[in-house]
Amino acid sequence: MALPKRRFSRSRTLKKRTHKKVDPLSLGVCTHCQSLILPHHICQVCGFYDGKQIIEIKAKKKKEKKKQ
Ligand SMILES: [Zn+2]
Repeated sequence: MALPKRRFSRSRTLKKRTHKKVDPLSLGVCTHCQSLILPHHICQVCGFYDGKQIIEIKAKKKKEKKKQ
């Protein structure tokens, strides 16, 4: 097997790794409920896509708390 003739310096290794990173998620905003959504995906909160209701969201968040 071929082997590199010389070792990479630490500086050269770090320079190589400057391009190796995870980009932050690019999120869009739902036109119906203004929540963050993935681009080209149905909104998981309200079920809208392109201004139209695509799916029915059955489970609703329990925000109401019992007042005593
Ligand atoms: Zn929405």
